Amino acid sequence: MPELDPTLGEDAVRHLAALIRIDTTNPPGNETPAAEYLAEVLRASGLEPTLVGAEPSRQNVVARVKGTGEAPPLLLASHLDVVPVEPERWRHPPFSGEIHDGYLWGRGAIDMKHMAVMSALVACRLKAEGIRLRRDVIFVGVADEEAGCDLGSKWLVDHHPELVRAEFALGEAGAFTVHLDGAVLYPIAVAERGAVWMKLRMRGTPGHGSLPRSENVVGRLGRAVDRLARTRLPHHRTRVVERYLEIVSATQRFPRNVLMRNLYVRRIADSIIRTMPDRGIAGATWAMLSNTAVPTVLRAGSKTNVIPGVAEAEIDGRTLPDQTAADLVAEIRKVVEDECEIEILRDMPPVETTADSELFRICREAIERHHPGAVPAPYLMPGFTDAKSWSRLGCRSYGFMPVRFPNDGTRFGDLFHGHDERIPVDGLKWGVEVLYDVVKRFACGP
Ligand SMILES: [Zn+2]
Repeated sequence: MPELDPTLGEDAVRHLAALIRIDTTNPPGNETPAAEYLAEVLRASGLEPTLVGAEPSRQNVVARVKGTGEAPPLLLASHLDVVPVEPERWRHPPFSGEIHDGYLWGRGAIDMKHMAVMSALVACRLKAEGIRLRRDVIFVGVADEEAGCDLGSKWLVDHHPELVRAEFALGEAGAFTVHLDGAVLYPIAVAERGAVWMKLRMRGTPGHGSLPRSENVVGRLGRAVDRLARTRLPHHRTRVVERYLEIVSATQRFPRNVLMRNLYVRRIADSIIRTMPDRGIAGATWAMLSNTAVPTVLRAGSKTNVIPGVAEAEIDGRTLPDQTAADLVAEIRKVVEDECEIEILRDMPPVETTADSELFRICREAIERHHPGAVPAPYLMPGFTDAKSWSRLGCRSYGFMPVRFPNDGTRFGDLFHGHDERIPVDGLKWGVEVLYDVVKRFACGP
């Protein structure tokens, strides 16, 4: 294993703790103090960061390490906002950045202030070393990812594309350790599902609550939503998932290896997903195989004694690569009643690139070098990230924010948006070394 540079790792721990203490819960976000903190770190190394944004309290921070321009830029992308917490459910306060049991605790520890700190430090190191880079390395820390990217990556791409235009991006989410039945895996995202947010609406005859009738719009919508919540939509084969299952199944023993390779068979998937002890992995498996439509909001009536004339539900729909909003609506139509109106509120198409690139090869080899025996595997992100915005500028994104997790039962998937979010201190130090290794090799490259 390559030598660790103690300063890089120590700096990462110190700055991440400080950044966690800056509360950027979205809503309302208020990312500017976090952007300013990172700008200060970047400035200390002689970089010239820019703060830009639509609102004074929602600034994004961008900095560029200049290369010779022989090759197009590489973007290191993070979001600075975090999702809300229920502090009473946490073992240690979520915004204190405390270290306990080898972990640095706090909201944003892995989603994804750690990547913001790691990539800022990598940019600082490259600047300080003054080595010849063939391509610019751009650091960006954006606002507002958790609420749909409007004031962050989307705003930057619409208003300042010149600041963030790049050939490749490294960002959310991937390159964390997954311990699976003796095997050690590092999923690296090469694609992410689309998001189609919808409203289902049913109309009926309003009436008095004292006069029951079987045709009641609240009951009908309730039944439709219940059917949708329990239905697994049809499977679709995708290149990225097929490749992922191939790689992962090869690391597993019988019978799991055979079952995994055949996960597209509906009967096998149904029984595996039903009996998986870990509901998080069960959900992620479901999300890889089909489009999904998850009811999240219900709205009908306002008075106990009035049967309303309309009832609505909001649905968080997600689409696989090669699937459109229209494909998903057609699948939902088969589950809900015909007279149900479906209105699309937001349509963010899936993005997909391939593992076929020099950068992916460098990422893969870095993982193999820094964690001997581990298996990197290109995978499909079930959720959306800022990669959707960068892709509008032709950028190819990989989910790569390396963290090494010990085999102690702590799982990245449980911590992501979960209570007790935390990052292993040694795993963070390891991660910043891996990221530095990757960025330097790629930016200096042949
Ligand atoms: Zn995130």
